[in-house]
Amino acid sequence: MDISAIYAITAGGVFAALVFARIISILVKWTDLFSVLVSRHLTIPYFVHRHRLWGPWSRASVILHVTYAAMNIFLILFRITSLTSAGRRAGELALINLVFPLSATHLSYLADLLGIKWRTCCRIHRATGWMTIVLVSFHIIAMIQDQQFSFSLYESQDMFTLIGAASLGILALCSNTWFRRWSFEIFLRGHQILAALFVYGTLRHLSDENAPLNHYLWISLGALGLTSCLQLMILLYRNGLFAGRGAPRALVTFTSKKTNEDKLIVTAARVRVLLPRPVQVEAGQYINIWIPSVSVRSWTQTHPFTVTSWSRHRQDVMELLVQPRHGLSADLTRHALAALESSVSFLALFTGPHGTTEDVSQYESSLLIASGFGLAAVTPYIKKMIYGYNTSTLLVRRLHLILNVSIYVRSGLANDKTTFGEHKRFCLYQGTPDYESIIALEASGDMIERLPNIQQERGRTLVMISAADDLRDHIREIVRGYLHQGVQLSELEYQPNDG
Ligand SMILES: Cc1cc2nc3c(=O)[nH]c(=O)nc-3n(C[C@H](O)[C@H](O)[C@H](O)COP(=O)(O)OP(=O)(O)OC[C@H]3O[C@@H](n4cnc5c(N)ncnc54)[C@H](O)[C@@H]3O)c2cc1C
Repeated sequence: MDISAIYAITAGGVFAALVFARIISILVKWTDLFSVLVSRHLTIPYFVHRHRLWGPWSRASVILHVTYAAMNIFLILFRITSLTSAGRRAGELALINLVFPLSATHLSYLADLLGIKWRTCCRIHRATGWMTIVLVSFHIIAMIQDQQFSFSLYESQDMFTLIGAASLGILALCSNTWFRRWSFEIFLRGHQILAALFVYGTLRHLSDENAPLNHYLWISLGALGLTSCLQLMILLYRNGLFAGRGAPRALVTFTSKKTNEDKLIVTAARVRVLLPRPVQVEAGQYINIWIPSVSVRSWTQTHPFTVTSWSRHRQDVMELLVQPRHGLSADLTRHALAALESSVSFLALFTGPHGTTEDVSQYESSLLIASGFGLAAVTPYIKKMIYGYNTSTLLVRRLHLILNVSIYVRSGLANDKTTFGEHKRFCLYQGTPDYESIIALEASGDMIERLPNIQQERGRTLVMISAADDLRDHIREIVRGYLHQGVQLSELEYQPNDG
């Protein structure tokens, strides 16, 4: 081959690479543009605003739910010959819809398997669950109106049908927010028992001629068995139970304050989970912890808490920040008085780490907004970004944390702004920050020092939030106006109002 042919091939190769790079950059731009459009018009704006009992539902969520309902209605009504046959089809569809809610005992596992957020998994669980309830109700009505319908409590099959239907009805009634808030543990265990009764009742309800329909239930139960086995194996491995190094232990320390009446109240518990086998935890991930000896009822409970410690490597010790509430967390604080100066140690098992992590590598500046214990969710990201800045492994050049807390300000300190800390970088403001101007400033990139006379492309801004509902809604609305300037919103796995 002569030299001109080699030049031609090399030039051709370089040209092809350039064209390829250009196509990729156009695609990336289009993908960016597409994702901005989707966020601006579908995922961020609410169609139904937040209410005590329902919502909020974004436009995207309404479209998806309506499409899902429409598909089910279409499948019921397509070429039906009578109401009874529509009812039969509704029953069959209910069994198909049931595959998702029945496929795992723990939604955190299912979310991990599907690579989605815990919150999204809960929404799918809720939507498929309610669809099943509606379809079963329609099935019952359609069957009752049939002239050949007969029912006798002396028939064991009918008896189990009634038990299954009643369990589903009670499950639907008890699924409201009030009941969940009243006692999460009773709600959860009740929900599981009623679901099991419903499945058993349905299995017995399906007579021999309907036996093929049992397959849907066996598929669900097979998936449940498989995910449960997987869950158990991961639990045994991560907790190092058969490694001969002992079980994990939770060391709990408390922070407290005195009230005006000189009463000591615990404001937070810090839990350090000492692990027999190191675990890789990504920023923003959480564990479900089981601490059986905290109280009589705690052995039945597992609770999700975000891992606040972060390391590039596997961790031997995971740190958690726990807000004292009413159940396990309140029981924990009862040990505080005995251990205010030191720590208490409990045997603890955990599942996880669960949850998704936000890719922070593409952002030049990050604005982290937390209210109250939302600080736990943003802390590992702060650690990761500071590490990335110090080691030049991330693009990040600016970090801005806004922490919203209710604190008692003594007179004399009650200025609008008080600066403190060695570098005067911590400011204590009273009142509500002007989030609109803060986000505008961060989006402009003006707060980042740049070399003079050098054209530098402005980097993207990440707004990360773990805060109370009203603040989150407010920030969503503001960020929506800055998406085209490269601002991205990330709502973390833990939002303080979840609990
Ligand atoms: C992904 C995720 C991460 C979290 N991270 C933290 C954290 O880092 N620090 C922190 O203080 N809190 C965190 N929470 C909230 C914490 O899990 C609850 O506050 C805690 O479980 C309450 O327990 P309790 O029994 O003391 O309170 P309760 O007073 O009995 O319950 C209060 C509320 O907590 C929620 N809750 C209770 N048990 C569970 C459970 N097993 N699963 C899910 N929700 C439950 C319910 O909504 C309930 O209404 C997180 C929640 C989730 C979903």
